Amino acid sequence: MKKIAAALICSLVVMFVLVGCSINLNINQNNNTPSNPNTPSNPQPEQPAAVKNVIMMIGDGFGPNHLANAKKYFGIDEFVYEDDYICDVTTYSKDSNEEWATDSAASASALATGKKHYNGEVSRHLGEDIQSIMEIAQAQGKKTGIMTSDTLHGATPGAYSAHTNSRENKAEIVADQIQSGIDIMVGSAAEEYTNAQQDFVEAGYNYIDNVAAFDSLNPNQKYLGNVPALYANNQGYINYPALITKVLNYLDNEDGFFLMIENGLIDSYSHGNNFVSAMEEVVYFEAMIKAVYTFCEGRDDTVVIITSDHETGNLALADEEDISQWEASRLNALYGWDRHSNMNVKLFIRFASLEDAKIYKDMIDNIDIFTLCQKLVEDESFDYTVIQQVA
Ligand SMILES: [Zn+2]
Repeated sequence: MKKIAAALICSLVVMFVLVGCSINLNINQNNNTPSNPNTPSNPQPEQPAAVKNVIMMIGDGFGPNHLANAKKYFGIDEFVYEDDYICDVTTYSKDSNEEWATDSAASASALATGKKHYNGEVSRHLGEDIQSIMEIAQAQGKKTGIMTSDTLHGATPGAYSAHTNSRENKAEIVADQIQSGIDIMVGSAAEEYTNAQQDFVEAGYNYIDNVAAFDSLNPNQKYLGNVPALYANNQGYINYPALITKVLNYLDNEDGFFLMIENGLIDSYSHGNNFVSAMEEVVYFEAMIKAVYTFCEGRDDTVVIITSDHETGNLALADEEDISQWEASRLNALYGWDRHSNMNVKLFIRFASLEDAKIYKDMIDNIDIFTLCQKLVEDESFDYTVIQQVA
């Protein structure tokens, strides 16, 4: 009886400490000192499961008003991932300014390497290759993958798989990818990959250019997917979310994986101030995220990070709740211009194991997302405190 009472008191104390601890974490946002897990006076909340898998999802050009306007246009209450909002993210590059924001190369390189780059640089700064999270994941024995609705030699997939002085060096990006050792790379078809088929095969890759091939992916083999356009699935295009599910199942293994998944079309349509097509891609991005969340159901070893490399179009927030009746010209006029902007983007994180212990911040910088990824991959542990608060 005494033992039971003692155990009860013990667990009450633990509960009290846990509650106190999480409140403290929530308020104390400016304290970036990582806590020492060995310090008994600073007990951790119930030990979260080890992180095996990290899934990084990037909506290219996906700003906060893209999200809000897409909901208004399509009459959607809430996207499934909105509950996982953590904070806003600054996206500036080393040479961006008020007039000229970051480009995808510099911002994706910041996300992939944790180092600020000049616009155009692809995970190589001032001539020096910067190690990417993909290379770190490989060194940890994890499987790796890249999927994009853009072409694979685009700036974002490039930053995760290559090193070159300029995003225009497409041949160098392809050459690096051939040597990258990344287990699977999938993008919308480009002739550079058709032409490089033999080189990929010689480097040990299976070259696939049709959807049926994704039904029989062999976990012991590597794949280069050069497939028809992975655009919003309303015109008979390939079902990108379905491919994501197949690639996730292919990558799933004992030692875990790191997968980067991009929707590249929000940016393209926003450059053209094509409101409706851009919003369709925002909804399609959610469909992609749903495929990932479905994979995560019932497992606590997978972290999903959802963000954007930058905003495109300086899109204004529509002032009415229902904008579905607006003329196209009025919708397109919501765009302020046809290039990127410095508007902050959003960060969402889903990790079932720490659902109740989230730390919310006002704002962080894109290089902090790399720091978080590095911690997840190297230590297989989740630590919000590595995310730095932007002053
Ligand atoms: Zn762009």
